[in-house]
Amino acid sequence: METGEKELSGKVALVTGASRGIGRAIALKLGSLGAIVLVNYNGSADRAREVAEQIEGLGGSAEAVCCNVADYEACGKMVEEVIGKYKKVDILVNNAGIARDNLIMRMSEEEYDSVLNTNLKGAFNTIRHLSRYFLKQRSGKIINISSVSGVLGNAGQANYSASKAGLIGLTKSVARELASRGICVNAVAPGFIDTEMTNAMPEKTREAAVGTIPMGRMGLPEEIASAVAFLAGSGSDYITGQVICVDGGMAI
Ligand code: NAP
Repeated sequence: METGEKELSGKVALVTGASRGIGRAIALKLGSLGAIVLVNYNGSADRAREVAEQIEGLGGSAEAVCCNVADYEACGKMVEEVIGKYKKVDILVNNAGIARDNLIMRMSEEEYDSVLNTNLKGAFNTIRHLSRYFLKQRSGKIINISSVSGVLGNAGQANYSASKAGLIGLTKSVARELASRGICVNAVAPGFIDTEMTNAMPEKTREAAVGTIPMGRMGLPEEIASAVAFLAGSGSDYITGQVICVDGGMAI
């Protein structure tokens, strides 16, 4: 690294669902490490632009990019536009996700499909469209944001747990396929993190969830971003196909 260069200088990072919460913290962290950050969002245009502006305000480079990751064709278009403009993507963080909790007896087909389509198929869509560029450049870091719910299961989250467990299978399979070309594919499984997703839960449910955390507190989005930054940097070049739980001990 030359003097004045940051760890991710010259790298291009695409972070899905980066308009708020964990994705926002990841975008800010990668931007602070010198990466050019593409801040993907679906509905929250103003908030995504604010994240990009915040990165630029700190001397970095960023752009907000709209795309519904559940839409295969739209993901292809986003990838072509990004490659057209920046010539490459070095780091892909599949973070976009939704929860539509319900007990299995009451869960609608729509609740199941929408969660699987965003959380699991969304990651397939971006990886599928970007993999040929990763293969051509013979390098790359793919980081999928799973969940402790995908590792342990969680009552009321059959759809969400299935999507997050599916992401772990996707991570391991793609890691095996791309390893010989120097591409690392890993997952981060957050525990219970303080964001709008968990703020939407009833107070009682939140308290009960905190009671299951050995460290006795919720995690911060920045604590997930630190693990992602490690997996995005050269310090993790010999790590692939792994799931790092960042959960205060929930999955011990
Ligand atoms: P959040 O605050 O609800 O933010 C979700 C983000 O995903 C938003 O930026 C949203 O963008 C984006 N998004 C949703 N659907 C999208 C789509 N179809 N296409 C593109 N972007 C989409 O959630 P969070 O708590 O930060 O969670 C981020 C990730 O971490 C999710 O995958 C979640 O499952 C996972 N996770 C969270 C926790 C937790 O405790 N919070 C724990 C484990 C795992 P728009 O507003 O623009 O739609």
